[in-house]
Amino acid sequence: MSEKGSYAGDSRRSFLKKATGATITLANTNLFAFSPGTSPQWDQALQTTPWFRRITRWGQTNITEKDPIIYDITWWRNHWKRTHTQGVIINAGGIIAYYPTKVPLHYKAEYLHGRDLFGDLCRAAHEDGLVVFARMDSNRAHEEFYKAHPDWFALDRDGKPYRAGDLYITCVNSPYYNEHIPSILTEIANLYHPEGFTDNSWSGLGRDSICYCENCRKSFRGKTGKEIPREKNWDDPVYRQWIRWNYDRRLEIWDLNNRTTRAAGGPTCIWSGMNSGSISGQSRSFRDYKEICQRAEIIMLDHQARTDAVGFQHMSDIGKIIHGMLGWDKLIPDSMAMYQAGRPTFRLSSKPAAEAHMWMLEGFAGGIQPWWHHVGAYHEDRRMYHTAEPIYKWYQANEEFLINRTPVGTIGVVWSQENTDFYGRDDADVLVDQPWNGITQALIRARIPYQPVHADHLSRDASKFSLLILPNLGCMSDDQVASVKRFVDRGGHLFATGESSLFDTSGNPRKDYALSDLFGSHVIPDTAEGSRESMKRTSHTYLRLIPEMRSKVYGPQTGTEPAITADRHPVLKGFEETDILPFGGVLNPVRVDDNSAVIATFIPEFPIYPPETAWMREPKTDIAGLIARTVPNGSRVIFMPADIDRQFARYNLPDHGNLLANVVRWACKDDIPLAVSGAGLIDCNIYQQPGRMVLHLTNLTSAATWRQPVHELIPVGPVRVRIKLTKDVSGKNLKLLVSEQKASAAVEGGWTEFEIRSILNHEVVVIS
Ligand SMILES: [Zn+2]
Repeated sequence: MSEKGSYAGDSRRSFLKKATGATITLANTNLFAFSPGTSPQWDQALQTTPWFRRITRWGQTNITEKDPIIYDITWWRNHWKRTHTQGVIINAGGIIAYYPTKVPLHYKAEYLHGRDLFGDLCRAAHEDGLVVFARMDSNRAHEEFYKAHPDWFALDRDGKPYRAGDLYITCVNSPYYNEHIPSILTEIANLYHPEGFTDNSWSGLGRDSICYCENCRKSFRGKTGKEIPREKNWDDPVYRQWIRWNYDRRLEIWDLNNRTTRAAGGPTCIWSGMNSGSISGQSRSFRDYKEICQRAEIIMLDHQARTDAVGFQHMSDIGKIIHGMLGWDKLIPDSMAMYQAGRPTFRLSSKPAAEAHMWMLEGFAGGIQPWWHHVGAYHEDRRMYHTAEPIYKWYQANEEFLINRTPVGTIGVVWSQENTDFYGRDDADVLVDQPWNGITQALIRARIPYQPVHADHLSRDASKFSLLILPNLGCMSDDQVASVKRFVDRGGHLFATGESSLFDTSGNPRKDYALSDLFGSHVIPDTAEGSRESMKRTSHTYLRLIPEMRSKVYGPQTGTEPAITADRHPVLKGFEETDILPFGGVLNPVRVDDNSAVIATFIPEFPIYPPETAWMREPKTDIAGLIARTVPNGSRVIFMPADIDRQFARYNLPDHGNLLANVVRWACKDDIPLAVSGAGLIDCNIYQQPGRMVLHLTNLTSAATWRQPVHELIPVGPVRVRIKLTKDVSGKNLKLLVSEQKASAAVEGGWTEFEIRSILNHEVVVIS
């Protein structure tokens, strides 16, 4: 798509007319089904595609209160141009107004001095053919406001207002959200006609604080007939009602704001509050991702930096998670910090360019669009101004391959936010995130492409997959359980870990796994005591691999007992020279059905220190850690009560990663459409578009793979790729979009094979 497309020179009026007219056809319009700039269909599609489906390169200068006196609009217009930016997010109102607002108590920036900074920027952007997201922040207000309307603010149990520094937290159930924010949205829409609105912090008080204001009490009483719980207690059904009531209210706010902005600004004047890149973060803020995605035309992702626990690959992961709910025809720009975000944060220092680039590139691999983000309009560290440009240039040149495509893969990894809430509770990191990270990291390490799938979408999406993985998916509804059973009945394979299906959707334990028949394993009553606490600890425990293959050479049993040479289960491939694996978790006994094979058993904890005491007290137990079976229709089911996934996320032991990868390969009968050889940690993602496939290979190999920031990129290669072709792809033609190296394809039996000499940060291969 050309930067100077037909929109670039449009007047504001004709743009609006087109955008407004687009609502009738937008559901059927697929802009990227046409070759850019070459056909009448393209021109027509451009005119009928609403802006939120078409604008892919975003930028934001997050305005500080001091900026109105130094903001150099001419300079920033140049920056928009230099970075090929098509849309900007501009601070408008909320905590601070950057325009001469007439809404009572709407606080104007201290240094605004009568300047209409938002208006000037909005007009400049429109003149340059850019679209504008007016940015709000409705979470807090100043003391003057609090004094005028103390009943619009969140109160603790003692009736004291919740505060954040000098500011007061507003209550989501008060007229602040029902009247004040809508009047600001309406004023801005009427005065400036931004294309849409976003909000940095729209969902009010988080889960860790309970508001006891009169508005909340009244609403909760009205909806449930109960009083607001006095304290957090996940075992209290009223507390869980309070959680769900909070979720519902955030969706009401989403809908109210959308009604308001569309009424004031026209049908495409959407409101799309920012959302987190962490499911636990969404849970703590009562933002139901699945419901939001059903409502949203675009997701504004506020996810600025990696943590050492997840790496860059978290971006491709979260992109796939959100697209799985939102659809792959919609867009997810992510706020990508050009400053040192994360740990530690320096708002005014440049993020090392390699670190910023890798974050962006892994986003592209997950279908995310770029959105550069600076805090403040003036910087003495000018290096950050050069970070986005080369990446935006590349994105623009290759955009047709980067959006409007669907993922290819045979492995579905199942999740749900309800599981984070009601199974994870206050330990979602340990109970939910770590098992997820362990599984997905093992898949990435093994170059096995995967797709996240929401548990409620199994009935719709499961048929795409050969194997479903349940990474300690504790909470499952009866419907979700039924979907998994249907999937296996129809020949699908299953790999489940930990306490999957052991809880209902409120987090109440079931007597047995709801999927116990498939697992071939059953809970033994009264043995699960304390399991939640034990998951937080690391214990000096092991797994014994069955059958043992005692070495003829080394073991003390030599000469007294013959070595067992029986074939081991294929998931233990590569472990022939060991009878034990390090574990770290704790296992409770399960009852295993006769039709299931126990592949590994538990070796209970024994001392580490002093070394003299470090011998196994109980070398053998019958407690199963890994159980495999093949059901009569040929489907394979592996159940892993041992939390190898969690341990791998924590400690990165290759044994754990290898075992998980072996399990996946066996369980799906090696039905994996990709094989990549060559050293390095490479995240592999495959997509399809009509007549072609797009393969992303992101090189995560670096001295800073597990500790930000990257200092230096280290190339990998040569990398040999074999990829299974989709029906409409011949596989003979290759185009390497990054290095532009020449590569030649050998096609055989529905697969194409080629070599990439070297990958620095990423390579994207178009196969047609
Ligand atoms: Zn309240």
